[in-house]
Amino acid sequence: MTALCPPDRVDRAQQAAGRAGLDALLLTPGADLRYLTGYAAMPLERLTCLVVPAAGRPFLVVPLLERPAALASPAADLGIEIIGWAETDDPYRLLADLLRRQLGRATDRVGMADRMWLEQALRLRDALGAGVGLAGEVMRGLRVRKSPAEIEALARAAAAIDRVHARIGEWLRPGRTEAQVGRDIAEAIVGEGHVRADFVIVGSGPNGASPHHELSDRVIAPGDPVVVDIGGTTAEGYCSDSTRTYVVGGTPDPELVRCYAVLAQAQEAACDAIAPGVSCQHIDAVARQVITDAGYGAQFVHRTGHGIGLESHEDPYLVAGNEDPLEPGMTFSVEPGIYLAGRHGARIEDICVCTEDGGRRLNLTSRELSVLG
Ligand code: ZN
Ligand code: ZN
Ligand code: ZN
Repeated sequence: MTALCPPDRVDRAQQAAGRAGLDALLLTPGADLRYLTGYAAMPLERLTCLVVPAAGRPFLVVPLLERPAALASPAADLGIEIIGWAETDDPYRLLADLLRRQLGRATDRVGMADRMWLEQALRLRDALGAGVGLAGEVMRGLRVRKSPAEIEALARAAAAIDRVHARIGEWLRPGRTEAQVGRDIAEAIVGEGHVRADFVIVGSGPNGASPHHELSDRVIAPGDPVVVDIGGTTAEGYCSDSTRTYVVGGTPDPELVRCYAVLAQAQEAACDAIAPGVSCQHIDAVARQVITDAGYGAQFVHRTGHGIGLESHEDPYLVAGNEDPLEPGMTFSVEPGIYLAGRHGARIEDICVCTEDGGRRLNLTSRELSVLG
C-alpha cells in the first residue's frame, strides 16, 4: 500500500456516508473505488461493486474470474472482504442480501457511484428496494483536497505531459495532417510516462476555434496557429492536461498575436489570484475580465477550469455561480481561451494547486506563443 492510497480513507467514507444519512455507498469501477482502495478495476458488464456500509465491514463483490486481480490489488490489504460470484449467481441479489444481513434490517437509502452504468444502478435499486442518492455527494468532500502524495503524483503527471509539449516540434510541421501529428503525440504521451493518452486535440487554423475539436485530415499550412491540448493517465492513476498554442513554420496573423497577448495576461492573472478562501467563480471572473476588457468576452465560450485528480474532469469547477472557496490541496486547470470562428483559436492551460498561501503551477513549459521552425 502506498502513501497515495492511505488506509484511513474507507473509515472516512463510512463516517461521511453515515452523516449523509446513507446506509452504504455502492461503488462500481471508477475513480471513487480506486480512491478508497487502490483497486483499478475494469468496468465490465459483470458486476464489480464495493459496498461501504456506514457501519460494519466493507465488502467487495467481484465476478469469480476477477477475484485473483482483486486479491492482488491494494484492496486486499485493507481488511475488505472480497466475495466472488459465479457465472450463474445473481450478484445483485447476493449484494442486497449481504448488505441486509450486515445492517440487520432492510436497506433504506444508498449512495451509488455517480458514473455507475444505468443497467447496474437499476438492477441494484430493484434488488435493494432502497432509495438512491449520489455517492459523489459524499466522495467529493474526501477527494477534492489532495494529499501531499497526490499532489506530487499530479506533478509527475504534469511533468510527463510537459515533456511531450517540449517535443512538439518533432511532429507539428506544415504539410502533415492533424491526424498524423495526433498519432505521434498519442504515442509520445505513453512514451513519456503515462499508461494511456486520454485525449489529443490538435486544432489547426480555423479548427482551433472549436475548443474540443480533436483531429481531422486537415493539412497544416505554414503560419497556422495550432491549439494542442493533450492529457493522459499515469500508472499511479493521476491525470495530466495541458494546452499550448503554437505557430507552425511562418509568421502568425497579427490578430492572433494580439489575442494571444490578452490570453496570456488573463491566464497569468487568474493563476496569480489563486489563494485559500478565494471563490472558484472569482478565478473565472479574473480571467474573463481581462479578456472582456480587450473586447473578446464573447469569444471566451467556456469556464476557466476544472478540477483534476484520478479523473481529468472533477470538482472543483471554476465557473460563474460556483461560490465554493478554494482550499489548500485543491487541484484544477486554469485554461482561458479565445476562439474566433472561421479564423483561429488559442488557449493556455496549466494545472494549478491551491497552496496554504497562494497557488502553484504544475505545468512549467513556456507560455509564450512559440513559433516552430
Ligand atoms: Zn476541455
Ligand atoms: Zn485540456
Ligand atoms: Zn482541461
